[in-house]
Amino acid sequence: MDLLEKQKFLQRQAMPLEDKITLSLRRIKDWINHWDGEVYVAFSGGRDSTVLADLVRQVDKYVPLVFSDTGLEIPEIRNFVKKIALTRNVVRVRPKKSFKRVIEEDGFALVSKKVAKQLRVLKGPRTDRNARMYDLYDTGKSADGRVGTAWKLPKKWRHLIDADIKISDKCCDHLKKEPLNTYAKESGRKPITGMMAAEGGARSTLTQCNMFDGKNAKSNPMLFWTQQDIEDYIKLRNLEICEVYFDREVEQPDGRIAMVPGEQRTGCMFCLFGVHLEKGNMNRFQKMALSHPRHHDTCINKLGLGKALDLIDVKYIPEEDDVKYVDAGL
Ligand code: SF4
Repeated sequence: MDLLEKQKFLQRQAMPLEDKITLSLRRIKDWINHWDGEVYVAFSGGRDSTVLADLVRQVDKYVPLVFSDTGLEIPEIRNFVKKIALTRNVVRVRPKKSFKRVIEEDGFALVSKKVAKQLRVLKGPRTDRNARMYDLYDTGKSADGRVGTAWKLPKKWRHLIDADIKISDKCCDHLKKEPLNTYAKESGRKPITGMMAAEGGARSTLTQCNMFDGKNAKSNPMLFWTQQDIEDYIKLRNLEICEVYFDREVEQPDGRIAMVPGEQRTGCMFCLFGVHLEKGNMNRFQKMALSHPRHHDTCINKLGLGKALDLIDVKYIPEEDDVKYVDAGL
């Protein structure tokens, strides 16, 4: 990465919120003008994309918000998107394959995209076609004979090679990428996303908000924002966000009222990626057992996620001591 470019980006990341808003609005305007208005917002109903939708509306209120309905959205997010659709042009796109079929035909997206891909390859046969990749994931040996650990499947997950479940990295391709790509192709519109470099991973290497060239042309006008900026913007604009971000009281089958902590992130509620890294008293599945018991039963028992979670030693039933109950007498 160009050092000067990176320095400029870090300066942008340190700007006050008002300046960031001004710059983001300019980026959005440039993008819309460049494509003669043929653009769309990739809208998830989550906090970041609600901020993005609000920014875009200040430039052009007719830009469609495209909601990729994977079938795995938290019900409250789905309701929030319906509410937004009362005042904005929301386009709903759906995947051709259901989550159930993805699990059956491709396998569980387990641990992380990288590990799921390594396992997909290593659970299959080593052939002439995949030999290089197979060896890289199995032993860390690359085509030039060098051996390293960067691409070798970590020891911690090797037991999953022989586990009696399918594992694959294809879930996002089927449920998220394909529907949005089809929409973009058919409509000819170019996406605006709420991606932020501060989220880490491959995103942290990006420094350009508007990428006009190539078949993956994309605008990320909030690339230099942070989670603190998102929170400050929501307060500044008095913006309504989905209720799942707040702690809520939920009645349990035994009549007690459990306090369910607000979500930090939304997206697919049955997603297994990263669940082994979650900190705090309860992970997403333990919280789901309290907040959405029917969905919990579907994913853990009917779709078999419980078996996949057992294999990576992740709990999905809350420990009694970790649940806070509201005293009905107060
Ligand atoms: S986020 Fe998780 S559940 Fe959703 S499509 Fe991607 S891998 Fe599948």
